[in-house]
Amino acid sequence: MKITDFKLSIIKSELKKPFVTNIRRVDAIEDVLLTLITDDGTKGYGEAPPTVAITGEDIGTIEKTIKERIFPAIKGLELGGNDIFEALHASVTKSTSAKACVDMAIYDILAKSANKPLYEYLGGKAKTLRTNLTISLGSPEVMLKDAIEAYNDGFSVLKVKVGTDKKECVEAMQSIRAALPSAILRVDANQAWDAKTALDIIESIAPLGIELVEQPTCAEDLAGLAEITAHSSIPILADESVFDYEDAVRILDGRMADYINIKLMKTGGIYEAIKIAALAKERGAKVMMGSMLESVVSISAAVHFAMSDDNICFYDLDGPLLAKPSSVKNALIFEKDEITVSECIGLGVKL
Ligand SMILES: [Mg+2]
Repeated sequence: MKITDFKLSIIKSELKKPFVTNIRRVDAIEDVLLTLITDDGTKGYGEAPPTVAITGEDIGTIEKTIKERIFPAIKGLELGGNDIFEALHASVTKSTSAKACVDMAIYDILAKSANKPLYEYLGGKAKTLRTNLTISLGSPEVMLKDAIEAYNDGFSVLKVKVGTDKKECVEAMQSIRAALPSAILRVDANQAWDAKTALDIIESIAPLGIELVEQPTCAEDLAGLAEITAHSSIPILADESVFDYEDAVRILDGRMADYINIKLMKTGGIYEAIKIAALAKERGAKVMMGSMLESVVSISAAVHFAMSDDNICFYDLDGPLLAKPSSVKNALIFEKDEITVSECIGLGVKL
């Protein structure tokens, strides 16, 4: 079976409320949607969100990269084996969201031709994942209100986005903890702090019982990240500092973080994510399956992948929950904070 053709379109869904972090604000999901077509007519689907602030890609660059670089490199190659994925990764530097979009469409086709759901094709079993819900950065009062609302809607794991202001961050976390004594709280600084500020804040919020602190420092400040990890009483999770396998080796072998966040949009898809997850397992580092602000196609890929590895034990897959329902049919069942996959083959996506 060979890849012979492709189509690009856009998948859109309005957000229920704006998504705000230390580095960006988004009002609607508007992602590239790919249909990859084989010589026997099988279709595989992929999605890539434009996340300029993180991967450097917008809709135009994702489409252009797929059209002019990746597709010509994989067209006509035989599916099965690693060659097609090696060609995909060699076709262009970086461009990880464009690569992820094509990679998941190939995996969709491979699982379909094996007549299996993708998680089973990847060696996993169906299970229920419990996703956290993201609380956007805002004033401590608004964050508290959003956190209480989310908890009352059935989300017991909250990932709270915080910013550079130490006082506001500590105040927000204290008031959320006081209102929600049994919630699991994660903090994501999205690179907001330097090492000293991070350790100050961590000392102030540690008594509140915080599960993990994500990406405290600038992605490139690995020395800062290592210093924080060495002295923090809360486990540190690296996100923007880990894109590919080489990054994961550097971070884990250099003890620069306790946990790592794998996102298909950073790894360039499942092929590379498998290698990173295996490395993390070998090094005893727990993994979060993360996502950008994505819709149901790429979140399906992330869910199937997360089900393939027991060491992936934190889930940040709330994109579809933050948006109004998408028109794309899919096999994901969201019940409060639980995600399960209904019977399907491949990714379970139908356009
Ligand atoms: Mg993050």
